[in-house]
Amino acid sequence: MLTKRAQRHRENGQCIPGVMRRDPLVHAFMPPTPSGPQSPPSSTLGTWAIQNARIYPSPDAPPVERGCILIRTGRVVDVGADVEIPLGTPTMDVDRRIVTAGFWNAHVHLSERKWAGALRRPAAELNGFFSDMVLSRGFTTVADTGSDPRITLRIRRRIESGDVIGPSIYTAGSGIYPPKGIPYYLEGTLPWYASWFIPQPSSPAGAVRAVERNIARGTDLVKLFTGSYVQRGVVRPMPLPIARAAVDAAHAHHQLVFAHPSNFEGTRVALESGVDILAHAPDAPQGIDGEFLRRVVASRMAMVPTLKMFRTTVSSDRGYLQPIYEVVRRFHELGGELLFGTDVGYMTDYSTEGEFLALAECDLDWREILRMLTEGPALRFSATDSGVIAPGKRADLVILDSDPSRDVRAFARVWSTVRRGQVLWRQS
Ligand SMILES: [Zn+2]
Repeated sequence: MLTKRAQRHRENGQCIPGVMRRDPLVHAFMPPTPSGPQSPPSSTLGTWAIQNARIYPSPDAPPVERGCILIRTGRVVDVGADVEIPLGTPTMDVDRRIVTAGFWNAHVHLSERKWAGALRRPAAELNGFFSDMVLSRGFTTVADTGSDPRITLRIRRRIESGDVIGPSIYTAGSGIYPPKGIPYYLEGTLPWYASWFIPQPSSPAGAVRAVERNIARGTDLVKLFTGSYVQRGVVRPMPLPIARAAVDAAHAHHQLVFAHPSNFEGTRVALESGVDILAHAPDAPQGIDGEFLRRVVASRMAMVPTLKMFRTTVSSDRGYLQPIYEVVRRFHELGGELLFGTDVGYMTDYSTEGEFLALAECDLDWREILRMLTEGPALRFSATDSGVIAPGKRADLVILDSDPSRDVRAFARVWSTVRRGQVLWRQS
């Protein structure tokens, strides 16, 4: 039974207080603005609360109206409409904005030239890159599916030490290619001697060595080009025994394997070698029929569609895009698991709205998209303390300006991003 005072607070969308203090202390959690001088937020150890929010705790749960989230030492302590807040706890009134679990982007690359020199670059510069590409889009966790591990691992260490403001990062390090199988579209971006150090194993033993070399450096995913565009319109598949050896080596280390499939043959090699996640929908899907997709779904291989990337970097021609959308639609209808990812870093347009619209065109509703962004990848990556808003889970949160249940473009209208209880980005 609520006291009259508590009842009054509930009606105003506030948490049930001792004594509420509002704006002054919220300041302690204000993030640096993306354009100004930047330093990490003051503390992850504090207790604070979000109040007056419409909360979607998970993709399936009904919304909590005028809800509160109590956060302590980077974790959610309590969430709901009747959360009791200790006296003097700083609160952030979000004015009925929408709060969901932090988003995952399961396909990014930290491979643009700007990331080089990761040890020497001033933190403020790296903060600006992350704010633009990742945090202002609501991503609290990213999977880097191919970059120079020497750079990415250094950046990750700087984030984990608190020096740089960024997301949680999983990385695949160097991608692994078929023999003589470096994609033609990378050639202009690589030095002439690249083919000496980019792994293109010609035997199963070579594939195992390539996987283990990455893992020894500290990477946590494996990325295979099971179908590589060696020329425009020409796909070179990875020989199946090589792909199988790489997948087995990764699985022996409990690592997930991503594959770049391109066409039917590249998808078949991924399926038959035991790959876990297709990093793209196949974009030359001739031969991929319902029967084949049923096998893919039965194998539990997930897919990151990256539909906007095809439209912006290959062609906006409907004749090219529609067959790709049809594969995603059928895969989804058959119960296949989709994960959200955009391929930013390869694609230099970082905005996410186009991907949400393309997914809606493939008949995904907003709850299914929320699952792709949150609970789905958290389960797939065995990050069991992430993906939903619940007591004991990581306080990785996104605050949206408007409600995605009315319009999926709202997923792109981020007001603030919170990772492990720290406000890392907020709309200026
Ligand atoms: Zn990519």
